[in-house]
Amino acid sequence: MDVRPFWLAGRPVTGDAELTVTNPYDGRVVAVCSVPTPEQVEEAVAAAAAVRKKAAALPIHVRAEALAHVSRRLAERADEIAHLITAENGKPVFWARGEVGRAVSTFRFAAEETRRLSGETVRLDTEAASAGRLAYVSRVPYGPVLGITPFNFPLNLVAHKVAPAIAAGAPIVLKPAPATPVSSLVLGEILAETDLPEGMFSVLPVPNDRAGTLTEDPRLPVVSFTGSAPVGYAIMDQVPRKHVTLELGGNAAAVVLADADLDRAASRIALFSNYQAGQSCIAVQRVIVEESVHDDFVARLVPAVEALVTGDPADEKTQVGPLVSVEAAERVERWVAEAVSAGARLLTGGTRDGATVAPTVLADVPADAKVSREEVFGPVMIVQRVSGVDEAFAAVNDSRYGLQAGVFTRSLEIAFRANRELEVGGVIIGDVPSYRADQMPYGGVKDSGVGREGIRSAIADLTYEKVMVLTGL
Ligand code: NAD
Repeated sequence: MDVRPFWLAGRPVTGDAELTVTNPYDGRVVAVCSVPTPEQVEEAVAAAAAVRKKAAALPIHVRAEALAHVSRRLAERADEIAHLITAENGKPVFWARGEVGRAVSTFRFAAEETRRLSGETVRLDTEAASAGRLAYVSRVPYGPVLGITPFNFPLNLVAHKVAPAIAAGAPIVLKPAPATPVSSLVLGEILAETDLPEGMFSVLPVPNDRAGTLTEDPRLPVVSFTGSAPVGYAIMDQVPRKHVTLELGGNAAAVVLADADLDRAASRIALFSNYQAGQSCIAVQRVIVEESVHDDFVARLVPAVEALVTGDPADEKTQVGPLVSVEAAERVERWVAEAVSAGARLLTGGTRDGATVAPTVLADVPADAKVSREEVFGPVMIVQRVSGVDEAFAAVNDSRYGLQAGVFTRSLEIAFRANRELEVGGVIIGDVPSYRADQMPYGGVKDSGVGREGIRSAIADLTYEKVMVLTGL
């Protein structure tokens, strides 16, 4: 098998070691990727630093055209890339196609947003002392960005690092997850077709033990990290003076209130607890159901979960595939067994075959069980019974995480109350917490992180406001 080069300052290069990527479903080798040497990592950072000023001054039409090109090429190569994502990550090809479609949109939104970048003027003559003065405010990139991404969306979460950086006029050095670097290397190929200046992007599949030099390097003043909370906060502690954005984990809740459409709630929750085998930071993990409809709801939920098609992710009909590795699946299996031995009732699932865990529903789970408190990151949900809205919202907030929450209700009053009271970055009314559109602000509170993605918000996070005061007007 040919060794895939990585991207160093826009050029394909090979290093001194190799990384073998395998398919989590059947263990087949998907790709052999070259790994950069420490000297090559240094070269990529130096190139990003060297192009910093040129990047910030890059004309808007050049940025927008490069981003639009990437969007078009991803669309043209969608089928090939979807199959690559399925092979390296194990997510069913149905979901992989969805991910490519989202990355197409993410780059298109960035192209559009770039054309909307503009300054602002602030009248200063509102005070007598500032008569004759006017402020012009523009946004300036902090400088080169280090993007670090997880395995679960190997293309679209990379898109959420790369696209806003280019839009903002910042070079980016990307470190993809070692388990799933292939999609980002293909993205590198497409970026290399654009007119972006040399040094504007590098894609470096460096192993974690070589990543420290990247995070600590002062020439990369921004670290934009998506991944788990322990790793994210360790990086933040390591570089307290950098601009760090953290998109971290969660144990997202879906609330089902008495006025909800129970059939719809059951089918949406069944699917979005298990999509990508539960490996999404906003997969439904905790289902909080109002007492008066609890039994009717569970009677719909369990068959909906059991009807999900589990199996080979390359099969177009498969809805639930393997986890990223056998070790990940074994951990999930252990957590379910721990909950059951502490008194939880298994309503369905709980079995494992290789890296695949059967979609699992638990009830009567003790509050201190790992499946209640931690992020499961597997196809497991727990169902909790509550007396009403007060108790439901308190249960949602009883978590150290706060990414998104879903509330199935038809009441506008409760919707606004949820928006006021739920301690999360996003409240999804009438649907699961797993809903995300790539142009909307997205991010967490509490241990789910700091900063926001979504193209406009990410551009704001990568830049600072600079003011120029004109005098004597
Ligand atoms: P992870 O934290 O293990 O790894 C994330 C990235 O950090 C990988 O590229 C990894 O190689 C890198 N990394 C690990 N140690 C590092 C170090 N010491 N220095 C620099 N980089 C290092 O996460 P994962 O298992 O790949 O992904 C799953 C996690 O990501 C879950 O917690 C999930 O909730 C979270 N996630 C969050 C979002 C979001 O937008 N909030 C989206 C997707 C996934």
